[in-house]
Amino acid sequence: MTNDARPRPFRPRLGARLGYALHAGLAANPLYARLAAWLERRPRAYRAFTAAERVTKQELFGCRMCGQCALPATGYTCPMTCPKQLRNGPCGGVSPTGGCEVYPELTCVWVVAIERAEAAGHGTDLDLLHRPIDQRLREQSSWVNYWQGRDDDLWTSAPLLRRELGLQPVGKR
Ligand code: SF4
Repeated sequence: MTNDARPRPFRPRLGARLGYALHAGLAANPLYARLAAWLERRPRAYRAFTAAERVTKQELFGCRMCGQCALPATGYTCPMTCPKQLRNGPCGGVSPTGGCEVYPELTCVWVVAIERAEAAGHGTDLDLLHRPIDQRLREQSSWVNYWQGRDDDLWTSAPLLRRELGLQPVGKR
């Protein structure tokens, strides 16, 4: 099953601090790499695993199964729920109160991301520059891709100078 609905800002249902804590348990290691390789050799098991990932992450983050997960660098807020699917946001259309340009009644996912990351002590994550994603990996398991080391270059360590541009969480202005 694919997510055909148009992307719409989604407010995560899992706290960012818990997200960071859970990530520590899912961090790539040789054991997970072997599990990922095992899953990729068994299509039925891979499909079942990917389906479980889809259900879990759709419920918690509005995941759209891009296959290259940015959550650990975005305060556990999915950038693919941005109507423009920006991996480096917010866009120039975000309102002064943090509203999405496309859905003004909803808060921009990048504003949510900055607020959540800052509150959890990971604000500097939002200074990282995300590279374009590989669209061919859509619908794949991002956990498997991560454990296989395919996510290593998803974002750079170069700062975006976000703070110098005056982009701060709404509540901190
Ligand atoms: S895998 Fe992609 S679409 Fe799913 S939560 Fe992560 S960034 Fe969002």
